[in-house]
Amino acid sequence: MIKQAEKELEKLLKGNRNFVNGTPTTKNMTLETLQKYAFHQEPYACVLTCSDSRVVPEIIFDCGIGELFVARVAGMTTGPNVVESVEYAVKKLGVPLLILLGHDDCGVMKYAKEHYPEPMSNFSSILKCVYPVLDREEDNGSVATDQDGISSTKVGAEGKKCHNFFAQEHTRWVEDYLMKHSVIINEAVKNKKLLIAKCHFDHSTGLVELI
Ligand SMILES: [Zn+2]
Repeated sequence: MIKQAEKELEKLLKGNRNFVNGTPTTKNMTLETLQKYAFHQEPYACVLTCSDSRVVPEIIFDCGIGELFVARVAGMTTGPNVVESVEYAVKKLGVPLLILLGHDDCGVMKYAKEHYPEPMSNFSSILKCVYPVLDREEDNGSVATDQDGISSTKVGAEGKKCHNFFAQEHTRWVEDYLMKHSVIINEAVKNKKLLIAKCHFDHSTGLVELI
């Protein structure tokens, strides 16, 4: 199963390069494809990502109808319904690959940064999934280094790089959350029936990179 998952991941990352290079295959996007899957589905990957209008998995991975089981929620935040959606993909549909796809300029990351550590009167279900990462950053000190080795002030700071680094930390947190809160996902990973790929989508280049 893991070998299959690695193959599917490679295919999706190659599809992303098609998108970036302006050479999408636009396969499986017709009524004919939909009719083929009218009474069943066989997605080969589950994608958990943000509701952001710029993050559209089928387009950025150059794939079509019936290929991806997608759960989109603001900030790629989690909760019982989201966990069970992923569990459904793993247990019922048997997908071997779960992609956690964070992205640049995420509105939820920005909102959380601006309001942390205020009490969560609005958007409480969303922020309770994001504040823990900020809690951890505070515990570790307020300054860290991002992927480019650039020092960036974390809590309360403005700036694109800061938010994007935070989004990547959040993606790692989501993986931990799923592993801790779902027996189905945890066992599938341990039994090598599921591969979790943590990815980040860069708006300026269109690239999806593994993190
Ligand atoms: Zn977002």
